[in-house]
Amino acid sequence: MRIGRTLPPAAAPMGWKVFYDGLIGILHGDKEIERFERELKEYFGKKHCFLVSSGKVALTIILLALKEKYPDRTEVIIPAYTCYSVPSAIVRAGLQIRLCDLKENSFDFNYEYLAPMLASDKLLAVLPTHLFGLPADVDRLKKMINKPYVTVIEDAAQAMGSEWQGKKLGTLGHVGFFSLGRGKAFSTVEGGIIVTDDDLLAVDIQQQVERLENYSGSNLLKLIFYAVALNVLLHPNLFWIPKALPFLKLGETIFNPDFPIKKMTGFQAGLAKNWATRLCEFRKIRQNNVRRWMNFIDQSRIPFFPVDSRNLLELIRLPVLLSSSEKRDLLLAESEKQGLGAAIAYPDVISNIVECAENIEDQEFQVASMISQRLVTLPVNGYLREQDIDNISHLVS
Ligand SMILES: *Cc1c(COP(=O)(O)O)cnc(C)c1O
Repeated sequence: MRIGRTLPPAAAPMGWKVFYDGLIGILHGDKEIERFERELKEYFGKKHCFLVSSGKVALTIILLALKEKYPDRTEVIIPAYTCYSVPSAIVRAGLQIRLCDLKENSFDFNYEYLAPMLASDKLLAVLPTHLFGLPADVDRLKKMINKPYVTVIEDAAQAMGSEWQGKKLGTLGHVGFFSLGRGKAFSTVEGGIIVTDDDLLAVDIQQQVERLENYSGSNLLKLIFYAVALNVLLHPNLFWIPKALPFLKLGETIFNPDFPIKKMTGFQAGLAKNWATRLCEFRKIRQNNVRRWMNFIDQSRIPFFPVDSRNLLELIRLPVLLSSSEKRDLLLAESEKQGLGAAIAYPDVISNIVECAENIEDQEFQVASMISQRLVTLPVNGYLREQDIDNISHLVS
């Protein structure tokens, strides 16, 4: 266990002023939620916006709305390498996971493999995913589907505020969602956002959201306590403390369909006061740090991943592919000792999650599998210092 300066892999810090805004948000209640919704609609240029307790809840709600609309359709296609919350939400909604491998050198679908899967008459939705903020080709997918009863749900959980070819990620699909969880582009401890222009779908989502429970008093208290803990402990000087507490399961990504489903609280909406300005600041800091990494990467021989998105700076963590899983694990172990914030993203391909395996055809996902073994992510958050880059660079070379 390390005691001493430890970089968090990702961080969008709050500060006490923001915490105070959260407490005021509790007093304002629904008014605060309406304010946040209004600002989001304006920012994303979308007609409808819904706020819930997490990204996976946002996805579950979208899926439940679609399921009611198309009861004969049960399949949801996702990338074979993605956040475990995604299959968790699909199972929670009572739907079936269908996996598609990734294209080489990208986190996007392999569209050759995807094409035949789109022909299924059971298909309900497809989730292009902007992993780490790297854009998936949503326009291409929409053209390939071109059927009104198959919905493109844009997983922009990690891409809030990011743009691609002048368009905001999260606004390209029929419906999009964002996560406000810890470690995302912008955080309110936990939270989820749904945006869409589709009036009919919005009515169905609205119905689902109206059925949701509010946080109980004790759950709100827990949330406030967690916000305080994050405010104190997310700093590099103290981050070793939560890392050392195994019950917090920091950084661990688990499959669990049994998550709480709630409406967002005024507290979270309050924490999101001035969110657009703060998001923009985080974005600039991250872009700057990605540039610093690029300088180092250009001089060394490690492949930045994915290679074909070199021009892109909109990352919440920098994905790097090492030449073998042994080297990756060595780097992780050494980074752990020195507190440098290198981390894996997800431990395995979705088809290898035991609870999912029985529902997924026995099939190989070569690219996803290679990524799960060789990928490491490097921090680009505001706590990164030149010395950290030097230290990690030293390890990598
Ligand atoms: C974090 C994340 C989610 C789920 O968001 P939560 O707020 O953690 O529930 C979904 N998809 C991706 C790609 C994510 O990174």
